[in-house]
Amino acid sequence: MVSGRSGRYRVEHLHQPDGWLSPAYLSVDERGFIDTVSGTQPADWAESDIERINGFVIPGMLNVHSHVHQRGLAGRVEPPTNTTIEESFWTWRTRMYDFANRPSPEEFEALAAQAFLDMVSAGFTSVGEFHYLHNAPDGRQYDDVAEMSTRVISAAEMVGIGLTMLPTLYTRAGIGRPLAPEQRRFILAPDTWAQLVADLVAASAGNDLLYPGIAPHSLRAVDAAELSGIVSELVSLYPDLPVHLHVAEQIREVEECLAGLGKRPGEWLLNHFDIDNRWTFIHSTHCDADERKGMSAAGVVAGLCPTTEAELGDGIFPLGDYSGIRGVWGIGTDSNNRISVAEQLRLLAFSQRLTNRSLFTLPNRGTGGVQPGRQLYDQALEGGTRALRQPVGAIVPGRRADFVVLDPNDAALISHGPDTVLDGLIFNGTSSAIRDVYVGGLRVVKDGHHLAEDVIFARYRATIARLTS
Ligand SMILES: [Zn+2]
Repeated sequence: MVSGRSGRYRVEHLHQPDGWLSPAYLSVDERGFIDTVSGTQPADWAESDIERINGFVIPGMLNVHSHVHQRGLAGRVEPPTNTTIEESFWTWRTRMYDFANRPSPEEFEALAAQAFLDMVSAGFTSVGEFHYLHNAPDGRQYDDVAEMSTRVISAAEMVGIGLTMLPTLYTRAGIGRPLAPEQRRFILAPDTWAQLVADLVAASAGNDLLYPGIAPHSLRAVDAAELSGIVSELVSLYPDLPVHLHVAEQIREVEECLAGLGKRPGEWLLNHFDIDNRWTFIHSTHCDADERKGMSAAGVVAGLCPTTEAELGDGIFPLGDYSGIRGVWGIGTDSNNRISVAEQLRLLAFSQRLTNRSLFTLPNRGTGGVQPGRQLYDQALEGGTRALRQPVGAIVPGRRADFVVLDPNDAALISHGPDTVLDGLIFNGTSSAIRDVYVGGLRVVKDGHHLAEDVIFARYRATIARLTS
């Protein structure tokens, strides 16, 4: 074939929106998009042109929420048990800020590259980077205000992951509280932020792996006047861009919102904006039944981050209820404490079972199958695709050729057929079940290894050694 992105494949079992195709004949064009999918071999395909893929091919998963620098904190911020302080999300955040204020642009890029490498190796082929580390460690704005976001984009290019870049507006510490010194890297004047978004929109035009978005951080970090002003203006100016913000991760956040704005965060947003399916509410953990009803009616994606929410003791989002009212949701790795599609979905399912004291996971609303693994995977694909606004999420003509090859010889998948293989992956598997990963038609992970993993890990190891010394 003529380019590294195009190809013709005979796939043993191919995930399709309404089931499986076994075998399937799949072609990818030179741009890295799916051209044809067929159950029979096209007459004009020569045998010598066909690459055979044994095992199960599924769409790559979308990671709706990440902060790449926090990859360097994984396993390093557990509080000692003899502390006299009451440890919480807020004390964790202080330690996270301490780390966030150290990396240079080069070190930040090294953290980002390792995070993205771990993502593609785990089956995430797209990510939404919620990027708020804009300034130098001393708080000074870089000569090029996009210095740090350019590092994220470079790291994504190096790894070959599809990126939705979400530059964040962050202007204060909390409702009625000015920005704290330890938040000096996050602040941008609203018009500077708007320019950063405009430059990103221009830079991503024609790039099949880079997409722009808008991220007012939260009702904590952006005031009501800014939300009604600059944020509303950008939302109108760019009608195709996704809009992400943190909503109701913590009870204290809901209480502060009630005290300062007279409404719960989801309620305030739903009342003050023309909220539609461009919006993703990250976490939504403590949104109440009325807020969830409003989110579902508007088409909002709930961006759930199970392993981070568990580590930080946030609480449990009632996924079964939300899915039952046709609420759309996706998964994110957020603090990047664990980067694994299987583990995020497993913890999500198990947390529901622990809450409900039942094996019930999700109402069955898909047509792809009735097993919980398939339901979880397909619903997360639907929400992730809506949240990141990339042309992916299904292996059908016209979508970008992002797919994952599951290894049928992995211990978790032995003797599974298509109907249950996603149960094997989600309820028992690890990233070792992921053999190959294609993004935009390019095989970025082969036999469990990324081509640049040695270089990326060496840089990461040296960076962590410096940042933690
Ligand atoms: Zn976050």
